[in-house]
Amino acid sequence: MSSRPILLTHASQVLTLCGPESPRRGLQMGDLGIVPDGALLLDEGKIIAVGTTDDVAKHDLSLHAEEIDCRGKVVLPGFVDSHTHPVFTAPRLVDFEKRIAGASYEEIAEAGGGIRSSIRGVRAASVEQLAEHVLKALQEMAAYGTTTVEAKSGYGLDLESELKSLYAIQLASESWSGTVVATLLGAHVVPPEYRDNAEAYVDVVCEQMIPAVAERKLANYVDVFCERGAFTLEQSMQILQCAVAHGLKTRAHVCQLAAAELGSLLKVHPASLDHMDFVADTDIASLAHSDTIATLLPAANYFLGLDHFPPARKLIESGVAVALATDYNPGTSPTPSMQFVLSVACTHMKMSPAEAIAAATINGACALGLQARKGSLEPGKDADIAIFTAEDYRELAYWFGVNRWERVIAAGQDISKAPDVSCSALSAEV
Ligand SMILES: [Zn+2]
Repeated sequence: MSSRPILLTHASQVLTLCGPESPRRGLQMGDLGIVPDGALLLDEGKIIAVGTTDDVAKHDLSLHAEEIDCRGKVVLPGFVDSHTHPVFTAPRLVDFEKRIAGASYEEIAEAGGGIRSSIRGVRAASVEQLAEHVLKALQEMAAYGTTTVEAKSGYGLDLESELKSLYAIQLASESWSGTVVATLLGAHVVPPEYRDNAEAYVDVVCEQMIPAVAERKLANYVDVFCERGAFTLEQSMQILQCAVAHGLKTRAHVCQLAAAELGSLLKVHPASLDHMDFVADTDIASLAHSDTIATLLPAANYFLGLDHFPPARKLIESGVAVALATDYNPGTSPTPSMQFVLSVACTHMKMSPAEAIAAATINGACALGLQARKGSLEPGKDADIAIFTAEDYRELAYWFGVNRWERVIAAGQDISKAPDVSCSALSAEV
């Protein structure tokens, strides 16, 4: 794409999501700030003007801009996928078949599958191999309309492999025009070698991983899996408080299998609490009065064939700020598609299409602390734009199993047809 300004014109709808730089709650989630026959003017990676085609065309910069006709298209902020696990080497196809045939999580783990197979793969891989996989995942996400991705480590589970995973995220992000936010998930599960001594592994996370990651500035966030079979609330608090002490921000996987008491977690002001399939009513009230985003991951419930989904309606109607993300990972949610997440959010959690889009854009940006730059189409914000073939935004959630993607722009660059960068093009000078 040229370095000239870009003028998008005559879009059926431009979804501006304009408003305060704060998460949308309750009825606000249904207001997408739609401009019919909309236009956008972009220059030097930023949004210059938004409005009707008539109005934006009058801007001085529009005179010599490269024009893209968006008739029959819906234009919206690029999706912000605020929860992904892209650092792994192989899909878990045997586990998939076994679970379909009725095997339990424990039976899959006993047979050497589950997260252990991903751990083996990451520990054996080079940083370049991991970076290549992450870059392919980022490119695939972009091809479904995503321009900002939170990427977690968490399949290395020793100091060296967690650092390697975060270097791979950094390396891949340097070859991608979208924005990547890295998260240390050293506390994903207790690795096999610490099976009988979880406390000792928590010490590794707190005394080795978090200080090393903070010192090397390899991640903005520390995440923890606070769940039965992973880390207790006390262990999770120890890890999150250690992160805060090292100047890192926090988030947590919680309430996926059973309700946990959220009061103490909220005291460390996590940016988000993710999954939230089972939440106590008293905690919903506390969440509604906090800045913490509830990030719902319904593609995982879909893939696991669960009947139960996160209580999105109750959360939204109680004033909790809700975001949506893919949870892209090889075990429970192998999808790069935020469009699919919109579909599942509407059909299985009864979110309206407008609420789902707000959750996948501005509220996702808030979950990553990027609301001043991302998540809405307003002058001064980053030119991260997704363009879909549709007359009406509701089609994004309505059609499923297809990609309505037309063009994706990140920081003013068209990344729709990004070159397939191979390992050889990546340099491991990290
Ligand atoms: Zn996750």
